Amino acid sequence: MRRADLPAPADSAPYYLPHAGEVALFEQCHQRQLAVMLKGPTGCGKTRFVEYMAWRLQRPLVTISCHDDLSTADLVGRFLIGAAGTAWHDGPLTRAVREGAICYLDEVVEARQDTVVVLHPLTDHRRMLPIDKTGETVAAAAGFQLVVSYNPGYQRMQKDMKPSTRQRFVAFDFDFPPPEREAAIVEHEGAVTASLAHALVTLGNRLRQLRDRGLAEVPSTRLLIAAARLIAGGIAVQDACNAAIVSPLSDEPALVGAMRDLVKASF
Ligand code: ADP
Repeated sequence: MRRADLPAPADSAPYYLPHAGEVALFEQCHQRQLAVMLKGPTGCGKTRFVEYMAWRLQRPLVTISCHDDLSTADLVGRFLIGAAGTAWHDGPLTRAVREGAICYLDEVVEARQDTVVVLHPLTDHRRMLPIDKTGETVAAAAGFQLVVSYNPGYQRMQKDMKPSTRQRFVAFDFDFPPPEREAAIVEHEGAVTASLAHALVTLGNRLRQLRDRGLAEVPSTRLLIAAARLIAGGIAVQDACNAAIVSPLSDEPALVGAMRDLVKASF
């Protein structure tokens, strides 16, 4: 079987500001070999949390971004024809299972349900990955842990995980942090002053209220950081906010106008 080396855990801790108790809960899940589901809006810190936990637990991290073309072969592996003939190549999930890595499937609802079914025997007492194509059944190495993320927002109404899949995970609820903490994150990640970080978070929270007026996706911590970085790089504050926060969120003139007004009123 061909194996590719997995990246070693990061040398220094990824910056992560905890919300409440999620670090201890994740450690327990890891020790007890329980699969984890992170629920929450885009850009609220789910991926950073997994990166931090992989570092803390000193496990390699394999990240797979899910999409609707993702096939079982993309996860498990496939036979490929090379100079020396046909050889089996492990997919990222199989590598993680063999090496005892944390395997993070980002936006798992984007994957088709028939693809996701391959995860089932990994999430119960069997901790096995059967590979139909080779007839091998791979037992998960001790540190292997499955983590999936999932945005239960508006656009997921049609796309949901099967109850039989959901019940295999311990779920963590994520949301945008309270203002003080979000400002600390924006200050750190955006390399801006505390007062500017606070002002950006205040703007973000005002914009989030436009959800009631039809804003489908509200500004994430990630967007606030992007604006902060532009400002730190010398872009005028309002221009940075319009480019990094307002425009990515909507094309609808009335909503864009309302958001731009809020930007003007904030700075
Ligand atoms: P998600 O995976 O939920 O879409 P990310 O983890 O990519 O979101 O978060 C977006 C960015 O926000 C991160 O790159 C990081 O800069 C920042 N961030 C969000 N929450 C935190 C946190 N609790 N601690 C540190 N950084 C955070």
